[in-house]
Amino acid sequence: MVQQHMTQVLASSNNPLGAPVQVGILGFGGLGQAASRVLALKTEMKLTAIADQKGYAYNPQGLNADISIASCHAHGSIGYLDDDILSNDTIHELIRRASGVEGYFLALPNLPNTFMASVAQQFIEAGWQGVLVDAMKRTSAVEQLLTLSDELKACGITYMTGCGATPGLLTAAAALAAQSFSEVHSVQITFGVGIANWEAYRATIREDIAHMPGYDVEAARAMTDDEVAALLARTNGLLTLENMEHADDVMLELAGICDRDRVTVGGVVDTRNPKKPLSTNVRVTGRTFEGKLSTNTFTLGDETSMAANVCGPAFGYLKAGIELHRRGLHGVFTAAEVMPKFVR
Ligand code: NAD
Repeated sequence: MVQQHMTQVLASSNNPLGAPVQVGILGFGGLGQAASRVLALKTEMKLTAIADQKGYAYNPQGLNADISIASCHAHGSIGYLDDDILSNDTIHELIRRASGVEGYFLALPNLPNTFMASVAQQFIEAGWQGVLVDAMKRTSAVEQLLTLSDELKACGITYMTGCGATPGLLTAAAALAAQSFSEVHSVQITFGVGIANWEAYRATIREDIAHMPGYDVEAARAMTDDEVAALLARTNGLLTLENMEHADDVMLELAGICDRDRVTVGGVVDTRNPKKPLSTNVRVTGRTFEGKLSTNTFTLGDETSMAANVCGPAFGYLKAGIELHRRGLHGVFTAAEVMPKFVR
């Protein structure tokens, strides 16, 4: 009997999602394109829908990542891929057309700071049901999503927020590292990002500039590409960021790990060199039950890119979200309260 049960458990854990799940990507810039390449290596998930600002594509049989990226580079939008589907309201139209999609990764800029919450509203208004995952960064942006939790729950949407690298992978690592302690004193997240050129990740860089002294989200959003390039020329391509408004703080507070003022996030972004300027790490300091002070440190490999550390967790949380959704658990969850699943 026990053996039969174990065999069933193992059989279902071999393919917990069943048939490949149809997945969509909203936003097809740096992260969206990297996400399509991540999915190309998976068998449990199949990319069938993509939208950018000017167009969209849907094919329930699957969209090829290389062809989609090449088409987007050649024409400036995914909308030229097959049927020339161009629109000024791509997300709205894709939600209605792509009926087979069970989950979306929202690789969209959060510019203005309320944009992602407005996208969630669009899904609610469309009566859509399924799983949404974002990689949003700001505390105030994640807080907006949290206020939508009841509405999302009532609509049958499971929304995983803050599921990139930081917040995301590193926040979850902090939640794990905290388990050694009976009292958590500080969580320090320090990231190093290296990218070959800033144009590959325009939204990411603008949103990082918004954390610099003298800038805010609106100022960074209003900057032209030339102005961003001029700023980077003055800093030798480096952005050094301290005490950022990052949602790791509210997520760890909500998960009961520590108060938000004990969480700090900063880092260095090199926009001219794919090599990381420093090793990304999270340091969790606390006191054990025996009264010993100690620090648990989790450090990412220097060869892991920003794209790998954002898209991997995003799909891991999408898989976890699909399992929650199928069990009838809806509403907003953060990366600090749910374990990501590994997508095969
Ligand atoms: P990008 O500028 O390279 O691409 C943005 C894409 O979104 C483009 O395809 C654009 O056409 C599309 N888009 C813009 N407005 C749209 C609209 N109204 N409708 C449909 N599509 C629209 O962006 P990126 O650098 O890949 O960054 C995406 C997001 O990921 C940013 O918000 C960034 O902050 C976030 N990010 C999170 C982490 C993390 O660790 N949590 C790390 C890096 C980036």
